[in-house]
Amino acid sequence: MGFVVAIDGPAGSGKGTITKLIAEKRNLVSIDTGAMYRCVALDCLNKGIKPNDIEGIKAILENINIELTKENGEQKVFLNGEDVSREIREPRVNEAVSPFSAIKEVRDIITPMQRKMAEKQDIIMEGRDIGTVVFPNADVKIFLDVSLEESARRRYKQNLENGIETTYENELEKLKQRNKYDSERDIVPFVKAEDAILVDSTNMSIDEVVETILKIIDEKLK
Ligand code: C5P
Repeated sequence: MGFVVAIDGPAGSGKGTITKLIAEKRNLVSIDTGAMYRCVALDCLNKGIKPNDIEGIKAILENINIELTKENGEQKVFLNGEDVSREIREPRVNEAVSPFSAIKEVRDIITPMQRKMAEKQDIIMEGRDIGTVVFPNADVKIFLDVSLEESARRRYKQNLENGIETTYENELEKLKQRNKYDSERDIVPFVKAEDAILVDSTNMSIDEVVETILKIIDEKLK
């Protein structure tokens, strides 16, 4: 088992950006677990399978192949051999993913895949249950928080930059709903691990968050 940094946080906390930057600076393999749940949701959406169709979802899971790779410094996500790196970030997937990730059968397949990824390499893994369930003994556990308003502002700006039409109010409502769903589900609800260090990114720049977390990691590496 390698060195494990767990970063958990709500949608829009900047986990993705922060994790990638820290991975580069400390030579860790960064793993985006949300991308894996997004792949399950996308596969189901494409095949017309609804979250209440457990048999249909089981069939999807039996054949699913998810690969997280890095090409020319860029993270890529492959679903059954197809590059879906962009598609999994589309609003339709944002809106569909939570009910799929709340299904026990889905987590029972995805969680072991994640544990396997830490067997032979040092990793920084981001998600919702990394410090609580996937790696309860992680070397470093961070809970990266943000206010709902700030996360909506960031998401709104990001969408504008990517040419996606939206409003601040729309983003606020969607993030609120997704965070509520993830936190209130019966299976592995999204909560802070008791021993995770809280970093609230609301009034911090990306650099400040990275520096704060690097200090915590370096203290452990000493
Ligand atoms: O992090 P991201 O927003 O890409 O995650 C997408 C969705 O996947 C979350 O809203 C949540 O429902 C699910 N997820 C999860 N457990 C994780 C990572 C993501 O349930 N470890």
